[in-house]
Amino acid sequence: MDRGAGPAAGEDDRRRIARTDVLLAEPRLAGAAGRLGRGVVKAAIAAAQRRARDGEIAPEAVADAAVASLPPSAAGLRPVINATGVLLHTGLGRAPLSAAAREAVAVASGATDVELDLATGRRAGRGRSVLAALRERVPQAEAAHVVNNGAAALVLAAAVLAPGREIVISRGEMVEIGDGFRIPELLAATGARLREVGTTNRTAPADYAAAVGEATGFILKVHPSNFRMTGFTRGAGVAELTGLGVPVVADIGSGLLAPEPLLPDEPDAASMLRAGADLVTASGDKLLGGPQCGLLLGKDEPVRRLARHPLARALRVDKLTLAALEATLRGPLTPTGEALHADAAVVRGRAERLAARLRDAGVDAAAVGSEAAVGGGGAPGVVLPSAAVSVPEPYAARLRRGTPAVMGRVEDGRCLLDLRSVPPELDGVLAEAVRVQADRAEAR
Ligand SMILES: *Cc1c(COP(=O)(O)O)cnc(C)c1O
Repeated sequence: MDRGAGPAAGEDDRRRIARTDVLLAEPRLAGAAGRLGRGVVKAAIAAAQRRARDGEIAPEAVADAAVASLPPSAAGLRPVINATGVLLHTGLGRAPLSAAAREAVAVASGATDVELDLATGRRAGRGRSVLAALRERVPQAEAAHVVNNGAAALVLAAAVLAPGREIVISRGEMVEIGDGFRIPELLAATGARLREVGTTNRTAPADYAAAVGEATGFILKVHPSNFRMTGFTRGAGVAELTGLGVPVVADIGSGLLAPEPLLPDEPDAASMLRAGADLVTASGDKLLGGPQCGLLLGKDEPVRRLARHPLARALRVDKLTLAALEATLRGPLTPTGEALHADAAVVRGRAERLAARLRDAGVDAAAVGSEAAVGGGGAPGVVLPSAAVSVPEPYAARLRRGTPAVMGRVEDGRCLLDLRSVPPELDGVLAEAVRVQADRAEAR
């Protein structure tokens, strides 16, 4: 029973609120304690008791309220439907894992043969299977290595190829990746020195050539993945820098392994290696659509040195990441790929069906055109035509606090639920989440 924000409960009501030990013995809550841990259940009980004391719910409703507010797992992270229209939303953990990757994680989460050859019973190379998958997907790479994230890939490259030496980088590629973290500072933290060349808007191959010398560790090309520079600009491509006698490292950011026709300005690993890069670094949880990790692809010799460096041990990924990455590489199109490639007319049709269904349920809903984006530091300025279900603005906050939580975006006084970032199989769950909030609003 929802009483709204009524006055605090009276003495009588307060006395009728069940005690914690009594509630912990209630079968549903006792079962949950076995699954989630006593602390998690006690916190849900305490919150429900508080609501009863505040007069928000009836004393008899405490057990039901506690059960309803139990988290889906013992971790604090809650499932969210990403209806923001931002495909790779940093706040929502960037790429959602594919079903294939989730299954692989579940399989690998117990004891697994991550460093053991079951045929011989002997120790085997960690991640051998995922590294093979990477080389199959990018035949231009002689070798591959996986670390914790894109930043870790850069740190390892700098530590191995430029210890106490210079990294030559264009002033137009001194990128802040987000949350105050900057690539130049990250590289400098390894003890390498940055040798800046060119200007913010223009850097020519000759600028690099003039800076390369005895102290050079490598030339670094950084993809400006989260901003766009237009006008009087000039940059140097990898192919123009490979003849300078020092390694060229290309940080492509997004993790595209091969060219993506929909995103012609996004660099990819295969093209960079074909152009002569010695090493490519990228993230696993951007456009590749996999788990958070950092990929290092390139020539055999530098990759082998990276993998044997002491820091490689500090930056190595766990078995769950290895499993998810391999399933991402070998599995079907990822949710990120599906969302990117979804036909705008199909997205529009989904929005119309959903809006009609919600109107039938009494919700002021309409299908509207929308503009989605890749996000997550990828494909800046690229607009993906999309469609959304528009509902009244107060839904935005209510949906965010619901179960599952739904993140839309507020535009012109309406809450837009953009469907390009929502996997189609979740349309029904999304409709139900909105309908539940409509019922709650009615009840108030
Ligand atoms: C995202 C990005 C990084 C950082 O990668 P993380 O996986 O977030 O650590 C580095 N360089 C570029 C160009 C990026 O886009």
